[in-house]
Amino acid sequence: LFAGPSEFVKGVVAMSGLPAADRIEVCFAGRSNVGKSSLINALTGTKGLARASNTPGRTQEINFFTQGPELYLVDLPGYGYANAPLKVVEKWQKLLKQYLSGRQTLRRAFVLIDTRHGVKPVDEEIMKLLDSAAVTFQCVLTKADKVKASDREKILTQVRGALAKHPAAYPEIVLTSSEKGDGIATLRAIINGLL
Ligand code: GDP
Repeated sequence: LFAGPSEFVKGVVAMSGLPAADRIEVCFAGRSNVGKSSLINALTGTKGLARASNTPGRTQEINFFTQGPELYLVDLPGYGYANAPLKVVEKWQKLLKQYLSGRQTLRRAFVLIDTRHGVKPVDEEIMKLLDSAAVTFQCVLTKADKVKASDREKILTQVRGALAKHPAAYPEIVLTSSEKGDGIATLRAIINGLL
């Protein structure tokens, strides 16, 4: 599945712009700067595919990428921008809600959490949204290389505690480093397993 190249399909700003639901998809959510672009680039082995989510104009789009003929990887807008205008936030929250609750082919959401920071209130908001949309989600810890192995256990405990409150949470947590490549093969195997 991850042998071939990944290609950018389109950025979507309204439900009417979604590509045909003709294949399975998985989506990626996370606070801005969590390392989402880096993770998608590492997963697909395609440098520069997912642009940093703070690229002007791209931040509010749902970005679709193909991975082989059977799968879409879906990059959801980064959240938690401290100074985003309320109108903008409300607009993408509405789109996100519509997308998550209406997409038949969506098999799983990956909620990215910075290993240094753990689950924050904005992450809880997304998890609640996923609960109410009944989309199974799995936590991916990013930038694991920035945290000493001895400190990771504390974060894992915090994340496990947070997940326990969410009916849509899948219990297995994936520890990754896009920089070092840790966990990338595991994540690919998980996605493969969904097809
Ligand atoms: P996004 O805003 O969520 O798309 O985040 P980016 O992928 O643009 O990453 C934000 C910053 O974190 C960049 O400076 C990346 O180089 C850095 N970063 C991302 N992943 C890793 C990682 O696994 N390890 C380390 N050390 N830095 C990372």
